[in-house]
Amino acid sequence: MKTLAAVAAMLLLGAAPAPVPAPAADGPTAKFSAVDKAFVAYPQPDLLFEDVQLVDGTGGAPKAHVSVLVRGGRIAAIGAAGKLKAPAGVTVLDGRGKTLLPGFVMVHEHFFYPTPQGGQYNEYPYSFSRLYLAGGTTTLRTAGSMAPYGDINTARAVARGEQPGPDIDATGPYLEGPVLLAAKMARLADATDAARTVDFWAAAGATSFKAYNYLSREQLKAAIDAAHRHGMKLTGHLCSITYAEAAGLGIDNLEHGFAVATDFVKSKQPDKCPSSGETLASLSALDPEGPEIGALMRTLIDCKVALTSTLTVFETFSAGRPQAPEAARALLTPPLRAAYERTWAAVQGIEVGKAYAAFFPRAMRMEKRFVEMGGTLLAGTDPTGYGGVVPGWAGRRQVQLLVEGGFTFPQALRIATLNGARYLGREREVGSVEVGKRADLILVEGDPTRDPRALDSMPFVFKAGIGYRTAAIFEAMKGTIGLF
Ligand SMILES: [Zn+2]
Repeated sequence: MKTLAAVAAMLLLGAAPAPVPAPAADGPTAKFSAVDKAFVAYPQPDLLFEDVQLVDGTGGAPKAHVSVLVRGGRIAAIGAAGKLKAPAGVTVLDGRGKTLLPGFVMVHEHFFYPTPQGGQYNEYPYSFSRLYLAGGTTTLRTAGSMAPYGDINTARAVARGEQPGPDIDATGPYLEGPVLLAAKMARLADATDAARTVDFWAAAGATSFKAYNYLSREQLKAAIDAAHRHGMKLTGHLCSITYAEAAGLGIDNLEHGFAVATDFVKSKQPDKCPSSGETLASLSALDPEGPEIGALMRTLIDCKVALTSTLTVFETFSAGRPQAPEAARALLTPPLRAAYERTWAAVQGIEVGKAYAAFFPRAMRMEKRFVEMGGTLLAGTDPTGYGGVVPGWAGRRQVQLLVEGGFTFPQALRIATLNGARYLGREREVGSVEVGKRADLILVEGDPTRDPRALDSMPFVFKAGIGYRTAAIFEAMKGTIGLF
């Protein structure tokens, strides 16, 4: 692997690679490859962010002119600019005109991406782990895996300090019933098989689970109970089981906001998945302010079921929405890029593209109302569909879309940071900029509270106080999605 990575790095960097800084003999990046070391701008986790605007992830108002001191990779002090001074040996960063945010905690991520053929997916743990970090995601949960050992080993390599990347809560393989949407999924025979699969993958290193479209209620119940016995959580993208049924069975989280709820399909049969057209039509006919969806929201809140917003993937299905930015498309191999651009163009003219476009603002309104009623909304990007939800770029897009949906920037940021950390049980470590927490930070050029597009300019991302030059990672990963 090391040889392959080294060769790939040489190819990426060209015939005359840029000089790499002398590797530190010790310190947090000592185990990184030379390629990864070249991404590091600040290798020593002792920093003072001086005179910055802080949006801390708690949902509170932005604070102007503050300084944030990091010692040994943790937030040591937050104080008024000018009052908080840098002790000896601390690197000072000029924060004027910049905004400091906690690193994103995104809970619907994958290490795979669709192929041009559709319906099949390939895994990119090498590029994706680095790209997620470059896009500001410092903690993530996968929401279903096509290659669980790949995800688990990547999570462990990051945890051991062998490579850069976000902390990873790795789900086991998709828990699926009789119909498979991709050839790499497992088909569970019955409830015993569901429980046995959870037990096996919990022992193999998975730390959470994801149920999928065609599971039966009996299988889901067995999987939830098995996951809970291991002290782990289970989320679902369900179809054969309604949201209300899953809440009653004890599920912890449901994916895709309300956009895949089959609760309102009139012809719904127990344990049977209606067509996606029927589901979309039933949801589009609902009043987002009405009592039907309101009752379901109340059920989820009473059962303490968190909901994950993945507006990024639904945006790709909706006509009249922008393409992924050029910088995101540049990360794809030419065939993947061409396939995405072709399908995006087709979406603009087809009925289903128009139907999703009409539903998109309603889906946003449902998520907003759920939060107003007291529900816990989490954020993820879901790099699936037909492509265009590109790790490294999609996280910031998801936050921008939450703002478009009516949340203030601090609220949207909290959904994408502290809410996720709390759900994952990691809020004492990460999820907000508070004294004692790990220095997982994003430095943004400009003011995203005035215009969330400022998130597109994120020159440095810090994990445990180690600062990464995001442009160097994006440059090195150009054209790699589709390769490795
Ligand atoms: Zn997904």
